[in-house]
Amino acid sequence: MMRLTIEDTCIDCGLCAELAPQNIRMAPQRESAHVYRQPRTPDEERQCLAARADCPVDAIRVT
Ligand code: SF4
Repeated sequence: MMRLTIEDTCIDCGLCAELAPQNIRMAPQRESAHVYRQPRTPDEERQCLAARADCPVDAIRVT
C-alpha cells in the first residue's frame, strides 16, 4: 500500500479533501490539509493519486 504525506507548502485550497475524502481532510486550525488515514484499498489509492495529480502546488507526496 502507498504512503501519503502532505507538505507544508499546502495552500489550504481544499481540493484534495474533496477528491480523497476517506483519506485527506482539512485542518482549519492549521490552514492545511492533513492525512486523516492512509489509503487501504485500491479505490482509496486511486483517489489519493488523483488528489496528488491535481494539487496546485504539488504538496502531496506518495511513496
Ligand atoms: S490540493 Fe494541495 S494545496 Fe490544496 S489542500 Fe490539498 S495539499 Fe493543500
